[in-house]
Amino acid sequence: MTIFEKIIKREIPSYIVYEDDLVIAFLDISQVTKGHTLVVPKKPYVNVFELDDNTAAHLFKVVVKVSKALKKAFNLEGLNIVNNNGKLAGQAVFHYHIHLIPRYPNDDFLMKGVNHNSEYTKEDFLKLKELIINAQS
Ligand code: 5GP
Repeated sequence: MTIFEKIIKREIPSYIVYEDDLVIAFLDISQVTKGHTLVVPKKPYVNVFELDDNTAAHLFKVVVKVSKALKKAFNLEGLNIVNNNGKLAGQAVFHYHIHLIPRYPNDDFLMKGVNHNSEYTKEDFLKLKELIINAQS
């Protein structure tokens, strides 16, 4: 059982900011930035690849609801929505969750990506597009 199931079952304490039958949201213990919140389906899906459509749809409604609450509560001008799937992607707790990370000036939060556009031809993009479209069926 992961730490999040223990939180859902009230076996360990947390600061819950939203809850319904399917979804719970609570403050992340690390508070990467002030108000850092996790939105979590109660059913212990491991990652995005396991999520069913209904849970995903409802979960994202809650993501939007809590994001708006964070914006209002902290007068936000920015917010990152982050979800790590798999150890390689930085996942540490293997119960699906979405991070809501409020942004503030000079808040030390880093997300770095490098632009590799120059390494791709138009044909490369077309191949990638086809692979992804074909994989949806
Ligand atoms: P991940 O790296 O899996 O995307 O994120 C896991 C998150 O869970 C981390 O940001 C970490 O701070 C948070 N976390 C780990 N243990 C606990 C806990 O016991 N309580 C709360 N509220 N958050 C936790």
